[in-house]
Amino acid sequence: MHIETFLVNRAVEGPSLQTAYFYTEPEKLEQIFKGKAPGFFYSRVANPTVAALEEKIARLEGGIMATATSSGMAALTLTFMAFAQPGAEFLVCAGLFGGTLNLLRSLAKTCGLTYKLLPSPDPGLIEKHLTPRTRLVFVESIGNPTLKVPDFAGLASLLKAHRIPLVVDNTVAPLLVKPLSLGANIVIHSLSKYISGQGTVIGGCIVDGGNFEWDERFQNLYPLVREAGPLAFSAYVKKELATDIGMCLSPFAAWQVLIGSETLALRMERMVENARELARYLKSFAAIKVNYPGFEDSPEWQNCHKYLGGKGGNLIVLSFKDKETAFNFIKKLNIARLATNIGDVRTLVCHLDSTIYQKIPPDEKKILNITDSQVRVSVGIENIEDLKEDFVKSIK
Ligand SMILES: *Cc1c(COP(=O)(O)O)cnc(C)c1O
Repeated sequence: MHIETFLVNRAVEGPSLQTAYFYTEPEKLEQIFKGKAPGFFYSRVANPTVAALEEKIARLEGGIMATATSSGMAALTLTFMAFAQPGAEFLVCAGLFGGTLNLLRSLAKTCGLTYKLLPSPDPGLIEKHLTPRTRLVFVESIGNPTLKVPDFAGLASLLKAHRIPLVVDNTVAPLLVKPLSLGANIVIHSLSKYISGQGTVIGGCIVDGGNFEWDERFQNLYPLVREAGPLAFSAYVKKELATDIGMCLSPFAAWQVLIGSETLALRMERMVENARELARYLKSFAAIKVNYPGFEDSPEWQNCHKYLGGKGGNLIVLSFKDKETAFNFIKKLNIARLATNIGDVRTLVCHLDSTIYQKIPPDEKKILNITDSQVRVSVGIENIEDLKEDFVKSIK
């Protein structure tokens, strides 16, 4: 079955939005609680509609199990907590979502870990920073605002040799790249963006590749290996973290994401096509600098071509003369809307420095390459001629 068919092939039989489930036999409920019989009992722990979504996202990424969460940030939190232990070091690579860095700063204060922010996901650079305490390497499949595309195969072979897991936030490139098939071990999604697609819901998901051998260095995960084998990471996240912390996705949100995902393949195709055309068109304007990884003269082109099939995603970063010019541009737009979201059917623009990256300290901002003259564009599915017209009149 092709992915387009799979996505619209509804898997949910009668979505269930219940909090708890009725039983007549206490013996049966006892067996379910012991894990000796299948069944749902409380929707913070598991729910059929959420489970249907988890199965879909696991299949989308080629993982062995997925855990849906209340937001993309919750998915990141649970993943980082699974690796948090005294002395643990995380290597995280720019470009990076601002929220991820804010989260790491908080966790570093409370969860016994440190992190190092590197300016790029270059395997050579990462190798120089690996230490015996490194517990994970974190990259984004197309990171903001540099729109860097990692050398996935290079990263995977380096980290396999050092027995360190590779965690990829693939929020911005579902269907364009499948990091697990390229050697990554865990994939994160914010379901609030592309997968749901219409900006109606907040959700997240963690996909377990089941392809890493957790050894005694991983204090949280190793004790579960004997019982759960390749599912040790998911077992820890689901049973030890998600259930008790309660960052569950609501079944109603899961249902909305399930419906939205049916058109993911179509939307991605159209967004990428529109983004390439808009980026190409804007390149001829001397007043702005256009960053788009799908340009053949982009420094990202080699990896974009190799891993994303030349599809540079739908994000474009425009650099203006200064902040004032950037703000004036945003104010003149009629069709593109000012909002901090991405991956919506509508074209959205956002001034990164004054919003998502406002709380990031100056030293980290410098590594991330964030400046106050940048505007990020998340290209939607509108008619391309309307978009071009809107942008041109607003740049002038
Ligand atoms: C939005 C986003 C997140 C956070 O997801 P939420 O659903 O908003 O919590 C994480 N990573 C990336 C790359 C994002 O764009």
